[in-house]
Amino acid sequence: MLRPPTLVWLRRNLRAKDNLILKAASGRGGPVILVYIWGNDPAVGSVSRWWLERSLQSLDRDLRALDSRLILRKGNALKALQALIKESKAGAVLWDESFEPEQRKEDAKIRAALLRKGTFCDSINDSLLFNPARIFNRQGKPFKVFTPFWNHCLSLTEPSAPFQSYGRLISPSVWPRSEKIKDLKLGPKGKWPRKLAMFWDPGSEGALAALRVFLKKKIKDYPIQHNNPAVKGTSGLSPHLHFGEISIREVWHATRKHAASDRRPGSARSSEAFLRQLVWREFSYYLLYHFPGTVSRPLRKEFSKFPWKTNRRVLRAWQKGGTGYPIVDAGMRQLWGSGWMHNRVRMIVASFLVKDLLQPWQTGAAWFMDTLADADLANNTFGWQWTAGCGADAAPYFRIFNPVLQGEKFDPEGSYVRRWVPELSGMPSRFIHKPWQAPLEVLTKAGVKLGQNYPRPIIDHDAARKRALFAYDRTGKA
Ligand SMILES: Cc1cc2nc3c(=O)[nH]c(=O)nc-3n(C[C@H](O)[C@H](O)[C@H](O)COP(=O)(O)OP(=O)(O)OC[C@H]3O[C@@H](n4cnc5c(N)ncnc54)[C@H](O)[C@@H]3O)c2cc1C
Repeated sequence: MLRPPTLVWLRRNLRAKDNLILKAASGRGGPVILVYIWGNDPAVGSVSRWWLERSLQSLDRDLRALDSRLILRKGNALKALQALIKESKAGAVLWDESFEPEQRKEDAKIRAALLRKGTFCDSINDSLLFNPARIFNRQGKPFKVFTPFWNHCLSLTEPSAPFQSYGRLISPSVWPRSEKIKDLKLGPKGKWPRKLAMFWDPGSEGALAALRVFLKKKIKDYPIQHNNPAVKGTSGLSPHLHFGEISIREVWHATRKHAASDRRPGSARSSEAFLRQLVWREFSYYLLYHFPGTVSRPLRKEFSKFPWKTNRRVLRAWQKGGTGYPIVDAGMRQLWGSGWMHNRVRMIVASFLVKDLLQPWQTGAAWFMDTLADADLANNTFGWQWTAGCGADAAPYFRIFNPVLQGEKFDPEGSYVRRWVPELSGMPSRFIHKPWQAPLEVLTKAGVKLGQNYPRPIIDHDAARKRALFAYDRTGKA
């Protein structure tokens, strides 16, 4: 006799390939029903919603090629699962384990409620290479520094290789009712989505294509180019990884395989540099798991006394890319225009907001969560706490990025600034990162009218630096 159906509750593993939950469900022997439940979570930002809509469409297409389909429901997850269990007579629910604090609490409640009614439940880690719950330092405490964490990860058994097929997925005799994607009312309307579509191809096919291009063309120069915002020197995989459209195991093993087959000098170094970034992602999740309060509170307690100067006007100028510091403005406009920002520039704009403008890192983190396609609670929290100097293995607070020197170092010709701040495109490279120092005739020739078509600096960096160090001193830890 056929076993009762198993529900696969998909959340952030929106792929048909190398999906451990799908594999476990198909291994149970009965029909498999895949469901995505949209709970209208306010924490999911505008660009993420846009991405999610397309990712779900792409997943449904991939599942139909396997003679399956994606069932969509909306509302409270527990109620939706209970309704589906009743309709389909499912005997089990499997899902991908979350490492985010609120989701874990929610999952525990759902598990308890389903078990009480006799439904088998299990959650499996399908998003990380290494399970954070099993990793501790020699003192039995969580790691707080990256390099020992990385070394520890390398000493563990290598993550399992991706698998190729599930065999046949058995369909239920009757498919449960599904919402239509458009009824979930996910994406923002208007010009914004059209702009985003010029940069991204959400879904597993887009993810795989990004990985292939990266391995074929970019990884060899990754150690040098990953810090250059003017070129596309990184993988662009972050939103795909966030939504689990490609498995992290596949990215890991494809990189290892590429390194083994590429005999050119420097190849091993390039691959290691990239694998290290994947483990930074692991580290972010690891810290969030062990220090769940860091979503809203600094890991280093003394920073809870930091004298921020909350100011909506300067926050708005930063958000709109109107600070008068070209590298900061270029980054903020890249974010608004494409749903992504280069990692080096993320550090520069975050430092500027937190240290030059003394705005709380949480406000910057919230803006990123709303506007990034790869908005990810773990990576974003970690990135902001790192830059603000209040997190684990963080940049020391007193190391304050100078936006002019950072621009000159990482965008020496100003190509990145010219692309995203077209008002400055006529400026000579010498002044592109500090237009206010350019002689009037240079500005005139470049068509720049400071204070009119491009702002004067919102704050003097040297004075801001002193103010930030003074504020830091008041936390008692300088
Ligand atoms: C203030 C700030 C906020 C950030 N917010 C996010 C966020 O919301 N979501 C997000 O995915 N990343 C975030 N990052 C990390 C990093 O900027 C992005 O992961 C990276 O720019 C993504 O581009 P990529 O996929 O081309 O990266 P690649 O250089 O190709 O790296 C490959 C993958 O490694 C991981 N990775 C790379 N750098 C980091 C890092 N510093 N920390 C953690 N994981 C990393 C990502 O999953 C990335 O896709 C943030 C960094 C800072 C400084």
